[in-house]
Amino acid sequence: MSNRAPIHVVVENGRERIEPTVGGVGTSFLRLLENHGGVWIAWSGRRGLQDRLPLPTRNPRFWLIFANLSENEITHYYYGMCNRGLWPLMHFMPINCHFDAANWKIYRRVNTNFARVALAESQPDDVVWVQDFHLALVPKAIRDSRPAQSIGLFWHTPFPPEDVFRIFPWSGELLEGMLGADLVGFQTASFARHFIDCCAGILRLAVDRDRGLVFMGRRAVQVGAFPIGIHVEFFAQMQTSVRVRQRVRRIRRALHNQMIVLGVDRLDYTKGLIERLLAFERFLESNPEYRRRVTLVQIAVPSRTRVSDYIRLKRDLDELVGRIIGRFSSEGWVPIRYLYDQFGVEELIAYYQTADVALVTPLRDGMNLVAKEYVASRSADNGVLILSELAGAAEELGDALLVNPYDIDQVAEALKTALEMSPEEKARRMLALREAIARNSLERWSESFLAKLGRASGEVQCNAGTAG
Ligand code: UDP
Repeated sequence: MSNRAPIHVVVENGRERIEPTVGGVGTSFLRLLENHGGVWIAWSGRRGLQDRLPLPTRNPRFWLIFANLSENEITHYYYGMCNRGLWPLMHFMPINCHFDAANWKIYRRVNTNFARVALAESQPDDVVWVQDFHLALVPKAIRDSRPAQSIGLFWHTPFPPEDVFRIFPWSGELLEGMLGADLVGFQTASFARHFIDCCAGILRLAVDRDRGLVFMGRRAVQVGAFPIGIHVEFFAQMQTSVRVRQRVRRIRRALHNQMIVLGVDRLDYTKGLIERLLAFERFLESNPEYRRRVTLVQIAVPSRTRVSDYIRLKRDLDELVGRIIGRFSSEGWVPIRYLYDQFGVEELIAYYQTADVALVTPLRDGMNLVAKEYVASRSADNGVLILSELAGAAEELGDALLVNPYDIDQVAEALKTALEMSPEEKARRMLALREAIARNSLERWSESFLAKLGRASGEVQCNAGTAG
């Protein structure tokens, strides 16, 4: 179960067609369900789709069941509570938090509806795997009806320390909702630790920190870190795709074979875009010899465009990009290519392959898949990853150049270091990064979570090939 479905609508010759999303986390679940059968429950993200769809469209193996949301629910549950309340709370950013009892009431109702659909679509001996903070109350809602159901919850965002989490007016209820699961997984050990601290401090529950257990009466809830991986083989295969190669050539031509520094993010205040641009400006200021030689390509994917904080950020960013371009451009050279658009996976991989440096500097991030995708997309050992130490990915990718994204001078210096790094050091780091990514594929991630869930709840009903 997840808030959004792993599909997008393609319009071809004026007709709409549903296509599964490729490349992202959705791919792992698609394959899991293709192998094991089952159903995926999610909001379609748009109106007018029927209640259920067979997937994959060409050779259906399982059903996608839509939990539809009304306009009112989209406003209060999705935009109000998820985007304006829980998202900033989970990223330790109280200043951006907007809490409203009306939003919470509808969040609760939507979670109950999701749980109702799950109960209708599953048997008591099925495994239910709930994804992310949108559906935090679903585990308890299912548990209340079916005490023996095997339920896992994976939390894709960070989880804040107790002192931050305490500001949430419904903190206890949210924790209890999550604790309906047998296993609660986080991206890093420190997020798991924060969650256990909250259970002990706010709900006054007994916990075993060494074994990662929270005791709910006679039940013990297992808590742990399961850093999410990427579909490594997919990115490796795409390296040799003719279409990707053609795009690489086109991008190089368009950028006049400049050195390329790349940023790829949703336009979100957690991604540190303003700070990154300021660091690039500082870099050009302190290193005039790099002017006319380097271009920052910043892909900013439109996101949550109805939310005021995002509208404001977009305005600030547009202004800052304009200022830097105005300050440094000279004939034939523009320091920043700012692409406010969403790209398909082939185009993205072409950008990853073209970039001499990937600048991945979120102010806080559960994992950050872009950092991993950059490494997985490089066939040559000559790219450098600059990575925020505040991204979950930093725990696995210690061979990147780690930076504090708030430290403008440090990021500017890291940029210089990256551009001047010796080929040997680049190769050594890239090799180590590639190994780290290969160790933890997306498939391995889902398998290890489900295996642990099986142990935590006593059994897992995942017999390959049986639909049910
Ligand atoms: N992405 C994409 N098109 C784009 C930019 C990004 O499909 O134009 C994908 C990217 O490949 C990655 C995801 O969006 O899989 C972003 O994941 P990440 O963990 O970096 O950040 P999130 O947006 O989930 O906070």
